[in-house]
Amino acid sequence: MRAREYDAIIVGASFAGLAVARELRGEVLLLDRYEVGSHQTSACGTPLWVLEQLGVKESVIQVHARAVIHTPTRTVVYDASESPYCTFDYARFCRGLLERCRVRFLRTAVRGFRAGGVETEDGCFEAPCLIDASGWHRALVGSGGPRGAAPPALTFGLETEADYAGDALYFWIDPAILREGAAWLFPVAGHSRIGLGSYAGASKLRKPLEEFLRGLDVAATRFHGTYFPAGLGAPTVGRVFAVGDSAGHCLPLTGEGIRPAVYFGRVCGELVQSAIDGRIPFDRALQAYRARVFAHRRAYAMLRALQWAVRRMPATWLGPLAEFGGRPAIRARWWPRYLDFGK
Ligand SMILES: Cc1cc2nc3c(=O)[nH]c(=O)nc-3n(C[C@H](O)[C@H](O)[C@H](O)COP(=O)(O)OP(=O)(O)OC[C@H]3O[C@@H](n4cnc5c(N)ncnc54)[C@H](O)[C@@H]3O)c2cc1C
Repeated sequence: MRAREYDAIIVGASFAGLAVARELRGEVLLLDRYEVGSHQTSACGTPLWVLEQLGVKESVIQVHARAVIHTPTRTVVYDASESPYCTFDYARFCRGLLERCRVRFLRTAVRGFRAGGVETEDGCFEAPCLIDASGWHRALVGSGGPRGAAPPALTFGLETEADYAGDALYFWIDPAILREGAAWLFPVAGHSRIGLGSYAGASKLRKPLEEFLRGLDVAATRFHGTYFPAGLGAPTVGRVFAVGDSAGHCLPLTGEGIRPAVYFGRVCGELVQSAIDGRIPFDRALQAYRARVFAHRRAYAMLRALQWAVRRMPATWLGPLAEFGGRPAIRARWWPRYLDFGK
């Protein structure tokens, strides 16, 4: 077994891992079992400002100024024109970010944590700073990690692409389509990414998704699906930082995970760089990161409570709830704050 020393090792080269890597200078190793940008698991809908901030606007496919929410009894439209969303090309996004990073990328599967480093199928690598950005797999902070942290609750999402054009982000919260879950349709210039997400973590979603597609009179192409968390986990485990889905950063209820992964990735990267430069002790970087994540604990708890309520409330209440949230006086209290999360 060979061991090599780096200043930092990041496991996972998707949203969280690339956001951390972008902030780092020095000897940094970025590991992923797939080529960067080759393995899309997301519908890739996020506020446009996220891509602008990261300097990867060239990956935008379509901009959306409205979110349309269908419930069994009514349809509610949220205006997002003051902070529009976009759907983007995952491969271009990731490769654009990688070009902005000064790191060594190695395609290899990480087997787990070992004191002071990571074990991969290509040998062991060591670094004082280890960052787990491996999504819900939690390659380092899961059971194989130091004092393995308890996993957060998981949602399961399954998605396909179909020929369907649209000009908004569409959601359905309707038990007739999926019990304890939601459906979405995100247009991407002439076709759409259409999926179902089960808050209960049910992974057998192919049949209900095909049924949903039949209702839209479209046929599925390829399917992809995976889990994503619905509750904040531990931001650090021992001396390992966890970022993105590995730390439960995906927002409950809406399942938006890209923006928090990028936001906390940048926070983590800045602190790790300060530790690498010797400007703060490593323990302070860990502590400061925990504090920055936990500053958002209430927002996560609120979204989690809403997700819990949506799973259990009678179907006829869903429309009035969506409409209540959209009333000008109520909307003014939460919508701008939601849109600006991570800005
Ligand atoms: C169907 C679906 C649609 C979604 N749509 C949206 C959306 O439109 N907008 C939104 O904001 N969120 C969406 N989400 C949620 C979002 O995709 C995730 O929250 C987000 O991908 C988290 O980013 P991440 O970088 O933390 O993890 P991931 O994107 O999961 O990346 C983890 C990386 O780690 C690598 N990895 C894992 N294990 C290992 C290992 N052992 N060794 C080496 N590498 C490893 C993986 O290959 C991967 O590249 C969706 C989720 C699903 C399932």
